[in-house]
Amino acid sequence: MDLFDKVKTYSRAKDILRNSVFPFHPTIEENNGPLVKMDGKTVVMAGSSDYHGFSQNNRVKEAAIQALSKYGIGNNGSRLHNGTLDLHLELEEKLAKFLGKEAVITFNTGYQTNQGAIVPLIGKNDVIFSDRDNHNSIVQAALISRGTFLNKDQIIRYRHNDMNHLDQCLKKAPDDHGKLIVSDGVFSMSGTVVDLPNMVESARKTNAKIMLDDAHGIGVIGNNGAGTASYYGLDNEVDIIVGTLSKGFGSFGGFIAGSKELIHYLTYTSSAYIFSASLPSANVAAAMTALDILLEEPERIDKIQALTQTLRDGLRSLGYNVPDGVVPIIPIILGDDMQVFKTWGELMEHGVYTNVAVSPAVPEGQQMIRIRLMSTHEEEHIDQILNAFSNIKNQVLVY
Ligand code: PMP
Repeated sequence: MDLFDKVKTYSRAKDILRNSVFPFHPTIEENNGPLVKMDGKTVVMAGSSDYHGFSQNNRVKEAAIQALSKYGIGNNGSRLHNGTLDLHLELEEKLAKFLGKEAVITFNTGYQTNQGAIVPLIGKNDVIFSDRDNHNSIVQAALISRGTFLNKDQIIRYRHNDMNHLDQCLKKAPDDHGKLIVSDGVFSMSGTVVDLPNMVESARKTNAKIMLDDAHGIGVIGNNGAGTASYYGLDNEVDIIVGTLSKGFGSFGGFIAGSKELIHYLTYTSSAYIFSASLPSANVAAAMTALDILLEEPERIDKIQALTQTLRDGLRSLGYNVPDGVVPIIPIILGDDMQVFKTWGELMEHGVYTNVAVSPAVPEGQQMIRIRLMSTHEEEHIDQILNAFSNIKNQVLVY
């Protein structure tokens, strides 16, 4: 058997290309905020995690340029060696203050951050309780721990956002094992917010720690955008907050917020932190300026909420089945790969870019078009999105 047999016979992408519109890797040639030129066509961007458009913000770009001129392109070393800039420390301090935590440690991607948190914390006498719909980076981080230390009974995947099930699982775990509950704060595909109050209750009864990956909550919900814990007024109940700089802050990178003791431990035990060159200055400066702007202009959060509600109402009046929500993510579940690809293509034809989500990003049956808004969208963009959905309504959709 040749190792590369699987490479030669891999056909999923080619099958899609042959049978339908191909929704992956459209290429951006120009980016003008909510409008992008993609594969030669200008479309409304309705599928970006740049929730406040900071990646295109002039003040943010200027801060990145200044930092790049001062410090250079890369830092060419780990944070532990020659890779720590004063800018990293400044950003970490600002984020900690923003989230009401004692300390913060930054990582190079949000994806890597989940490994950075989970792998050093989970040893052979511990159990992870992970929501079945958690982001892939959490699933993979747990698997790395398992590969290193754990057997399969030490990764418990409880039913999605089902706190009764979590409670039952927690009660079954051995008392002498450390327990970590891990969940998305806001689930990236559906936009559902975790049931934190009930999670906290179960965790406290069983001495479990809570870790939230709040990639989609920070910058969007809670006090000034401080995320899911703040949204529920449970800031002190979440032991570990994981965030990304690539969404609400428009930059790139990730971070963990927690107690001083926890962050000190991770600083010296987290392979994802120790064995990787540090976050480039331009990204750090950009994230810091984005946070400053967010705090100066909290009305951005109200705007994005209002725009999303207008879009939800509009889609419903067109007959689409749209769940309630508090974040700028709107899932339209079609439940079939080909329907999703075709619908995506029709929306592009009508000048709107959305995301497609098929397995393994979502379970079979939940295949969807995912819309995401930014506070830089205006009413006219919402109208354009609604027009596109109105035009395609009778052509491709199954409800
Ligand atoms: N966690 C969640 C919940 C996410 O949605 C994402 C991004 N899709 C990540 C982590 C990874 O973040 P990044 O893209 O910044 O690496």
